[in-house]
Amino acid sequence: MSSQDNKTNGRGGEDPLLEVRDLKTYFDTDNGTVRAVDGVSFEVRRGECVGVVGESGSGKSVCQISILGLIPSPPGRIAGGEIIFDGDNLVEASEADLRKIRGNRISMIWQDPMSSLNPFLKISKQLFEPLQLHKGMNEEQAREAAVEMLQKVGIPGAAKRIDQYPHQFSGGMRQRVMIAMALLCQPELLIADEPTTALDVTIQAQILELIRDLRRDFGTSVIVITHDLGVVAGMADRIIVMYSGRVMETAQATDVFHRPAHPYTVGLLKSVPRLDRGRTERLIPIEGNPPDPSQERKGCPFAPRCGWATSKCHNEMPELREVDDEHLAACWRAEEVFGAELGSRASARRVAAIEKRAESEEITDDVLAEVAEGA
Ligand code: ADP
Repeated sequence: MSSQDNKTNGRGGEDPLLEVRDLKTYFDTDNGTVRAVDGVSFEVRRGECVGVVGESGSGKSVCQISILGLIPSPPGRIAGGEIIFDGDNLVEASEADLRKIRGNRISMIWQDPMSSLNPFLKISKQLFEPLQLHKGMNEEQAREAAVEMLQKVGIPGAAKRIDQYPHQFSGGMRQRVMIAMALLCQPELLIADEPTTALDVTIQAQILELIRDLRRDFGTSVIVITHDLGVVAGMADRIIVMYSGRVMETAQATDVFHRPAHPYTVGLLKSVPRLDRGRTERLIPIEGNPPDPSQERKGCPFAPRCGWATSKCHNEMPELREVDDEHLAACWRAEEVFGAELGSRASARRVAAIEKRAESEEITDDVLAEVAEGA
């Protein structure tokens, strides 16, 4: 049996592919210690897609970069916790071991394709290298595999275009080349950091579709990082909502959308570009700004921006706790929030609009263009 068969068979199996336990990633700066990730725990099962959502600065990227062992040190450091990938703790792995895993068993799609493509090298050279390094292929085998992957990600004339330089590709095509590169070695885990932000809306929809297809074809586990809950609707099995370096809420995706239990998640849902009655409605951003992560904190970090906050919220940090089956929230008033959202017609309409946006097939491009105009 090939390893691919093993991976596919492992889908839904009991042992998670990745387990992050109480991860703390800090940066020592002149202004104090920035606790970018402050005690985050989550897991990714085999074949599962997990969405990590939160506003800019909430620690989503730092968390994923920690998994890859790419935190610049100094000023960064893993101050605590474990990252268990297929049984091995990556926090304790040597650089040589991490190099064997990166780009091979765990790949990353960055926001900017040029951060993983070298502008001075032909695409062919950049695609062959991981195949020769990790899979021991010769040049001929590598060319064949690379052309096949370029075709799979939708690059027309891949056999010829493979010998071009990155600047000869459009932005959307460069993104596809980067995705091809990330998938070449058939990673077990693909981490996509805001995979669509830099792209126009038509290409955004195509790229998300592509990640969905590849996940289905290869049984790859996927982590999608985004500030926009709408991006992971219809894509993620589970969602982790991050704020100020912490997990605020985590549940099955449908529960996060239909029965959010944290006021911050409700705020994020209200700020998703949405469509109602055929036109785009204005976004409702969450008022205020996230706290400075280098300041000493007391109480819930969201309390200063939260309409539900009481004096207890300002003084005592709520731990992440189960509020429903496989549904955890770090909020003292989670049950009340949960109940209010569950019965709210406004909330039901909002979710229907988000799902409509995610599922709309026939006019995805037009629909997304409309959303972008209103954004
Ligand atoms: P997100 O991905 O959610 O937008 P990040 O993970 O990029 O957020 O950042 C989390 C926090 O870590 C931010 O406050 C950011 O300023 C801080 N941070 C990230 N990298 C560094 C660094 N090299 N030095 C100091 N602080 C950093």
